Amino acid sequence: SQIEILPVRCLKDNYAYLLHANGRTALFDASEAAPILSALTERGWQLDQILLTHHHDDHTHAVAELVTATGANVTGAAADAHRLPPLDHAFEPGDRLPGGVEVLDAPGHTVGHVAFHVPALHAVFTADSLMTHGCGRLFEGTPDQMFETIARLDALPADTRVYSGHDYAAANLAFATRFAPDPAALAERQAALPVLARKGLPTTGTTLASERLLNPYLRCHLPQVAAAAGLAI
Ligand code: ZN
Ligand code: FE
Repeated sequence: SQIEILPVRCLKDNYAYLLHANGRTALFDASEAAPILSALTERGWQLDQILLTHHHDDHTHAVAELVTATGANVTGAAADAHRLPPLDHAFEPGDRLPGGVEVLDAPGHTVGHVAFHVPALHAVFTADSLMTHGCGRLFEGTPDQMFETIARLDALPADTRVYSGHDYAAANLAFATRFAPDPAALAERQAALPVLARKGLPTTGTTLASERLLNPYLRCHLPQVAAAAGLAI
């Protein structure tokens, strides 16, 4: 049967994601109702489930409106239930949700942040933890927590596609040039980004294999990256 992951541009630079498989549709983060509802209408999909990565408004703002419009169930972290919209189902990191979705603990950006890994689809929805060519800002967690989070995500198979919560690819790539990443891979990606922008195509959904070449946070173990960051190892 048809399986599709559809990035939906929301707000200024957010991505929410619709996952349609086996006739059911899930939404990862509820950033803005209008573009999500029009994507559902265009595809003829009925929203069943909303999964939340963390409590920030740009990821949860549209929950109430989407629930009213679609009757979808809302799923989020038990530890953050007090600051998430009302949940129909609360999970713990390590839980396996219906549809083969694994909840990975991913603190750093916030302490309750999670990522959703769908092994059957070689996909991980990372929101503001590991991002395209970078990582999320530390609002609540420590650098150690984000380091552990990135290591946990980096342990997934190389062909896993990373679907993050924002389109920061260009700015992150500009930052990455400071850390001596693979010059050929970097140049190729720098040339590709404006083409994607011109065509209105998403920058998200890169593989871990390509992030391992481009993303300095997946390259901390390399002496030249540590040296460029001013760290002697
Ligand atoms: Zn956030
Ligand atoms: Fe965000």
